[in-house]
Amino acid sequence: MAKTKKVAAWAAPGPGDAGKTGLWRTQRPVVDPERCTPAKKKNDACYICWLVCPDGVISRGQGPEIDLEYCKGCSICAEECPVDAISMVDEEEA
Ligand code: SF4
Ligand code: SF4
Repeated sequence: MAKTKKVAAWAAPGPGDAGKTGLWRTQRPVVDPERCTPAKKKNDACYICWLVCPDGVISRGQGPEIDLEYCKGCSICAEECPVDAISMVDEEEA
């Protein structure tokens, strides 16, 4: 039997991989710093939103910072936040 080389899977999505969003996004994520755990506690906790964003547009500051130039408005971050700190707001309202 032939030996197979083991290679770990690794991917690093980042801003720009799918291009700038432009004007077609219908909703945008808005973080409530009163609910977000790291924003409230001023520490490096949680960041599940950073982990799950398929476009890699969330960075970790004092709370998540979302690059709206590239955010596609998919709402995965809002759905996965354990404390409902992210709301999806209509672009027309924002
Ligand atoms: S998942 Fe929610 S609580 Fe956690 S860092 Fe993101 S917005 Fe804050
Ligand atoms: S709405 Fe989607 S693309 Fe935008 S920050 Fe949340 S998970 Fe990322």
